[in-house]
Amino acid sequence: KNYQPLEGRYHQMRYNRSGDSGVLLPAISLGLWHNFGYVDSIQNGRDILRCAFDLGITHFDLANNYGPPYGSAEENFGTIFNKDFKPYRDELFIASKAGYDMWPGPYGNWGSRKYLTASIDQSLKRMNLEYVDIFYHHRPDPSTPLEETMVALSDIVRQGKALYVGISNYQPKETKEAASLLKELKVPFILHQARYSMFDRWVENGLLDTLKEIGTGCIAFSPLAQGMLTDKYLKGVPESSRAAKDFTHLNVDTVKSNIEKVQLLAAIAQERGQKLSQMAIAWILRQPQVASVLIGASSTKQLKENVEALNNLNFSEETLKLIDEIVMN
Ligand code: NDP
Repeated sequence: KNYQPLEGRYHQMRYNRSGDSGVLLPAISLGLWHNFGYVDSIQNGRDILRCAFDLGITHFDLANNYGPPYGSAEENFGTIFNKDFKPYRDELFIASKAGYDMWPGPYGNWGSRKYLTASIDQSLKRMNLEYVDIFYHHRPDPSTPLEETMVALSDIVRQGKALYVGISNYQPKETKEAASLLKELKVPFILHQARYSMFDRWVENGLLDTLKEIGTGCIAFSPLAQGMLTDKYLKGVPESSRAAKDFTHLNVDTVKSNIEKVQLLAAIAQERGQKLSQMAIAWILRQPQVASVLIGASSTKQLKENVEALNNLNFSEETLKLIDEIVMN
């Protein structure tokens, strides 16, 4: 059946400016790291993408190697895009990245001009797109001169294959260096993608300040600590969960070692009239430098629940302190 996006979808979402740029991003964005590979149901993926757009989520985040297998999330996205989203291309902000292992040999990983240039072409082909809205270097490469990587990103923009550039997983010092190179090249560097959740607060040690200084937005990934910061694991590890799957990056031991903290946090969320997942998302959005929280979802139900986080974004000092005490313990 033809997809008719929900009218009024832009009224329920909040849009935040990304740094000092011209770009507004939905407060909650959807990532396709998991649940969109050939190993997953494409019908479920299609339902999730439609539901996201209906909720006002205009930003979809991909990377060359999302799947599994590598490339398959982009391929599935391309198939769904052709069927459902082609008429709405200008209402969407689509990301891809390169920087991790992608194809064999010396040119399919890290940060060389050779790798990035080939990778963006592959990604565009898989997704059936003429350009992506943002192309990221996925992680810093200690062996390639930063200038080579940044010039490659800049040329990708000049060739019309991406409108904006971003970096991911860079430390504050490398971020500043990248920003000054990109400024010289006059390429809009609008986003830094970083892991951030109540369980992983490294961005608070300098990165968010650096981003403020250089006028770049932050988009926070794994805000739910891959599902740990939800009610899902409170009664054991469900069979279909990420922690139970063997191709994922979350394991049962990590889940178990955090369960006491999760219980305490869930109780605080309940007092706020929220689910833990919703509190975890709201907690990140309290940071003014964070333009968007980048979630994953394996069902439309999860997605809807997560977007309802926007109904209560306020935290008292007391609650924030309590949360700190629990997670730092
Ligand atoms: P999350 O922390 O949001 O974890 C998402 C997972 O949590 C879901 O797949 C689901 O797992 C579970 N979940 C979500 N909502 C609920 C809910 N309401 N109730 C119960 N369980 C829920 O983020 P991800 O780790 O998926 O990362 C999000 C995106 O960030 C990625 O898709 C990717 O785009 C990006 N990313 C970027 C990285 C980088 O290096 N730049 C690295 C990692 C991610 P389940 O399958 O168990 O249901």
